[in-house]
Amino acid sequence: MSHSTADTQADILVAGAGAAGLSAALALAQAGFSVVCVGHVDTRANGRTVALFEASLRFYKALGVWPRFRGKTAPLARIAMIDATGARLPVPSVSFAAAEIGLAAFGENIENNVLVEGLAEIAAGTKNLVLHEDMIDDIRFCEDWVHATLANGQRVTAKLAAAADGRGSIARTKAGIGTRVWTYPQIAFTALLSHPKPHRNISTEFHARSGPCTLVPLRPAEGKPNRSSLVWLMSPEAAERRRALANSELAHEIEDQVDSLLGKIEIDGPGGFFPMAGMSANRLVGHRIALVGEAAHIFPPLAAQGLNLSLRDSAALAEVLGNARVLGHDIGAVQTLKTYASARRSDIFLRTNGVDILNRFLLSNLFPIDFLRGAGLFAFSMIGPLRRALMREGVLTHGTLPRLMQERPARRFTLFSRGEASTGMSPRR
Ligand SMILES: Cc1cc2nc3c(=O)[nH]c(=O)nc-3n(C[C@H](O)[C@H](O)[C@H](O)COP(=O)(O)OP(=O)(O)OC[C@H]3O[C@@H](n4cnc5c(N)ncnc54)[C@H](O)[C@@H]3O)c2cc1C
Repeated sequence: MSHSTADTQADILVAGAGAAGLSAALALAQAGFSVVCVGHVDTRANGRTVALFEASLRFYKALGVWPRFRGKTAPLARIAMIDATGARLPVPSVSFAAAEIGLAAFGENIENNVLVEGLAEIAAGTKNLVLHEDMIDDIRFCEDWVHATLANGQRVTAKLAAAADGRGSIARTKAGIGTRVWTYPQIAFTALLSHPKPHRNISTEFHARSGPCTLVPLRPAEGKPNRSSLVWLMSPEAAERRRALANSELAHEIEDQVDSLLGKIEIDGPGGFFPMAGMSANRLVGHRIALVGEAAHIFPPLAAQGLNLSLRDSAALAEVLGNARVLGHDIGAVQTLKTYASARRSDIFLRTNGVDILNRFLLSNLFPIDFLRGAGLFAFSMIGPLRRALMREGVLTHGTLPRLMQERPARRFTLFSRGEASTGMSPRR
């Protein structure tokens, strides 16, 4: 990793070196901004994976980082949803194929820690980008500058802070941006599994009353050709009980829950238990700050939307700031940042509330809600155009995607590729 001992000045300080922060830092550095990214790079395995959809893959391909992950992902060619709520009304199973919307796969599934470690390695070798593996202790927003003090005493000064420092964001708090927070009576249990039967690139969601239990295809490992990751939402009481089980007992309960779909389950390596919550920042921007990723929005892992949404934040921020610089605008000015906020508003609103409604529909056992859920799934199973619209919305989203996520971004940041970006770009393909 790059380390600097002196105080640093940059165009942009990215707070947080999780997947969202590192991705934003890479996009901003490649757009020609000088960037300092501050945060611990957490590469501990915890059974968590992320399904990255088509638009996110285009983003990583445009940044040239995707080859680093070749052979480390598994494609999701089909998504199947099976009702396991025991609803009084029969709820149909639904299956979505990527081929129906002209894609070979909806996206690719990868272990979180593998993604973060790879992005950090690339960041460390990227022009215009300094990665400080430290924490921000304090941050002040002044008229023209942002001043951050790191835990080791170093200081970073920048024109703008991109806050990607997660749910407890110090940058967001110090900027005086409030949040709306809510909780769900659910814990997500995550684990990597191996099994005798192939997953056939199908992600299968069992919709139970406590939430979905999802098997997502995972790349093979040595001697383990068939692997999946698991995200199982359960009540806090069930999580407490399962936490105390031996791996073999837990594997048995997983197998029961998924109707032995993939045969005998074995758990590979450590898993994790994550309490489910929702959070929405009251504003996406403030004076010399723009929020990105979980510093701005949190919701449960239904339909694999969280990081995909965060990457759209990152790509949009790089685009808005790139355009502002071409026009000679201050990248930290409220007017510039408002453009970012308005570009992101409806996407964030739709995902946060859509996932919330989906989750509450499952948690409720009221007959009218079950009826609505059943009718909705029936409509999606029977009506082709509706099903295809839902699939497109899930992987590519409505409205205009940021330029880096559009198909074949042949010339990136063309507006400022004429040399006005004094620090230059380091195109990676
Ligand atoms: C079980 C589960 C499954 C999921 N599956 C999917 C999926 O399939 N697809 C998908 O798109 N999304 C998925 N998500 C969501 C996705 O994992 C998150 O949206 C994503 O990891 C959030 O990334 P982030 O970088 O915003 O936040 P974080 O990963 O929380 O990173 C924030 C970083 O900021 C750092 N930080 C905090 N304070 C400071 C400070 N003071 N100074 C410096 N750094 C600081 C932290 O150390 C951390 O590294 C899932 C989530 C869960 C819980």
